[in-house]
Amino acid sequence: MFLNANENSFGSPLPGKYNRYPDPLQLELKRKIATIKDIDPNNIFLGNGSDEAIDLLFRCFCEPGNDNVIICPPTYGMYEVYANINNVIINKVPLTGTFQLNVDGILNTSDENTKLIFICSPNNPTGNVFARNEIQLLIEQFAGIVVIDEAYVDYSDQSSFSKELSRHNNIVILQTLSKAWGLAGLRVGMAIACSTIIDQLNKVKPPYNINAISQQLALAALHNTKQIENWISISIAERQKLKKELEQLPFVDTVYPSDSNFLLVKVENVEDLYRYLLKVNIIVRSRNSFRLCEGCLRITIGTPQENTILLAKLKEYI
Ligand SMILES: *Cc1c(COP(=O)(O)O)cnc(C)c1O
Repeated sequence: MFLNANENSFGSPLPGKYNRYPDPLQLELKRKIATIKDIDPNNIFLGNGSDEAIDLLFRCFCEPGNDNVIICPPTYGMYEVYANINNVIINKVPLTGTFQLNVDGILNTSDENTKLIFICSPNNPTGNVFARNEIQLLIEQFAGIVVIDEAYVDYSDQSSFSKELSRHNNIVILQTLSKAWGLAGLRVGMAIACSTIIDQLNKVKPPYNINAISQQLALAALHNTKQIENWISISIAERQKLKKELEQLPFVDTVYPSDSNFLLVKVENVEDLYRYLLKVNIIVRSRNSFRLCEGCLRITIGTPQENTILLAKLKEYI
């Protein structure tokens, strides 16, 4: 008998039993993830999307109004959003012209109040991975925490930095079920780090941050590894194919190398092309307003059928 939590003892007016609060530490789900990723469950934090982990990193490790973090634009927008919400100063050290890290710039910009460096590899929206030895160098030289966002790591040849966990206690690796795992609607993301950092994140998170349905469905989905591996290899093959075909189009300037499930494409008259695609019911993301991404669209790799339609419509644009 559970008469301790003021839940409804009768049940819930649904076929499922949702009257009980879910496991606040999501142990069953973590054990499954740990097996798949070959890490210790004690090194995993689960969040309501990895975005929750980003927010919690600011709240755990930065003093509002005093501390700062470093980001390397063009990159994922949520680092800045959560820095602003938490009143943490943002220092920007832009990527180089080849979309690589400016390691000296990052180290020279950091001071005793720099608590986090956000590295997104493969990077959104440029799509590429950063040189591994340069990320390694940052981990070794920086006194604070290096956050490595690996949302797209499943599409990359570069292996996860989670293997470095035993050597370094100042890294946090972010991964998510939202991309390759096809579960963006469930909102499950993770931070992988030493247990000291994981304990901090768990202390600050809302107690039941992952609801019962998300825990159950995520666990069920994780038994479907074969399906995911299949989709990943199709996406990678389609990425290569789409890149080649796009490069043939006269208004396409550059298709940047990608280690992710999208392509960054530099085109002529980007706004006009964007509006044309919208008109024929194809929604892509314009990154024209981002420095270093002027004239660029970010196009997600679709199904083979979707990619065929995209190419056909682009040929009609000529
Ligand atoms: C999509 C994405 C995420 C995923 O966020 P969730 O909150 O887990 O859905 C994280 N980082 C980057 C760089 C992304 O592009």
